[in-house]
Amino acid sequence: EVRVRFAPSPTGHLHIGGARSALFNYLFARSQGGKFIIRIEDTDQARNVEDATEKLMESLQWLGIDWDESMDIGGPYAPYRCMERLDIYETYLQKLLDDGSAYYDYMTEEELQEEREAQIARGEAPKYSGRDRDLTPEQRQVYEDKGIKPVVRFRVPEGKSVLVNDAVRGDVTFETDDIGDFVIARKDGIPTYNFAVVVDDYLMKISHVIRGEEHLSNAPRQALVFEAFGWEKPMFAHASLILNPDRQKMSKRDESIMQFVEQYKELGYLPEAIVNFLALLGWSPVGEEELFTIEELKEQFSLERVSKAPAVFDTDKLAWMNNQYVKKADIKRLTELAIPHLQKENKLPESLDQEQYEWVEKLISIYQEQMHYAAEITTLTELFFQREITYNEEAKEVLSGEQVPEVLEQFSKELKDLSAFEPAEIKAAIKATQKVTGQKGKQLFMPIRVAVTGQTHGPELPQAIALLGESVVQARLEEAVK
Ligand code: GLU
Repeated sequence: EVRVRFAPSPTGHLHIGGARSALFNYLFARSQGGKFIIRIEDTDQARNVEDATEKLMESLQWLGIDWDESMDIGGPYAPYRCMERLDIYETYLQKLLDDGSAYYDYMTEEELQEEREAQIARGEAPKYSGRDRDLTPEQRQVYEDKGIKPVVRFRVPEGKSVLVNDAVRGDVTFETDDIGDFVIARKDGIPTYNFAVVVDDYLMKISHVIRGEEHLSNAPRQALVFEAFGWEKPMFAHASLILNPDRQKMSKRDESIMQFVEQYKELGYLPEAIVNFLALLGWSPVGEEELFTIEELKEQFSLERVSKAPAVFDTDKLAWMNNQYVKKADIKRLTELAIPHLQKENKLPESLDQEQYEWVEKLISIYQEQMHYAAEITTLTELFFQREITYNEEAKEVLSGEQVPEVLEQFSKELKDLSAFEPAEIKAAIKATQKVTGQKGKQLFMPIRVAVTGQTHGPELPQAIALLGESVVQARLEEAVK
């Protein structure tokens, strides 16, 4: 049975790399009729952030990812939070200590530091020297008497190769001589990630470990722990690194690009676009099509088409993709997403009556084709909220045309005669202006557009004029011919 897990450490918001791992696991589980499990890996307590777990789960839910076992819904292998599994780890840790696969190491931080520095000075890669590998009970007692607390280290066998079966990379072998004895339990007895993850993956019957390439170097350590217990290893699948738009390695500290799912949510991106985009970060479908619903992805996803070549996090492409979904989205949904952004900029009152709501809805609909994400509406619609508009050079050029005063004055007159200030009537007023002035095409439309919107490009003119309202439009027409 396929059983996969997303095992975040609760250190902050859901990062796009994490979201990609979660999604790949989820899609793989669903494509195989398997189970998708969420486990919270919180044994590195210094890095834990309060509320991070809830935030991570909320973001997953928002993306439309659901799970079969986790701390919130339980499951046959509970608990699903590592810090609630300490007694389990203790039992297994003891087994490794008993059979000599692990040992106590009493080196202090200072001693380790000195050792590392000396190695670096000699031009060697830093690696635990193995000082306490073979302490006698008497030697241990000396340290104990001094009150020194030990860590537990895994005894990495010398001169061997470790095999990691990877669905993306094929068989990857590592030399144990490159791997120092690593810590599997800290001084306070709490296990480290590389130990707990193996115990948990084994006990939770995880069949495939799908995660990002940054964990590839952990894989041989984990494989060694599996082997020490005599347990069958899962199939690994390390998806490619995700690079910045400028093809540099992504750093979580880089604030020049938004790396967290929640940031996109806040800007009014649509979850189905994010899912679509994340799916293509290191996985490729058969064929040229790029737009997929999550349902389609569940059917088409396969580990064979996950690539080891780095994926580029192309934010322009994400915006493009989101626009594809915005264009098809329900107008009510877009309106709901856009309103808070307009409110934040004091462009709308805190609560809207029916009429105001409908006005916003129409406003959004004339920008729906253009809008990449909901927050963008505040800049796109600026001209609807400004008292006076300023004309740029291009606009001034248009307004300097010889025919302009006549066109604008006539149009103004036609508008005054309308029975309703609505797009169809406004369209008729433009037609009537054409008849009277004899101007048509650009000569007719451009001055009107520029006079009322200040821009040479923009939304459908009759709709925009209707939404601006009669008094604003008349004032702007008057201003433009001054
Ligand atoms: N807790 C690890 C992380 O947040 C999970 C790695 C794994 O999937 O094994 O990166």
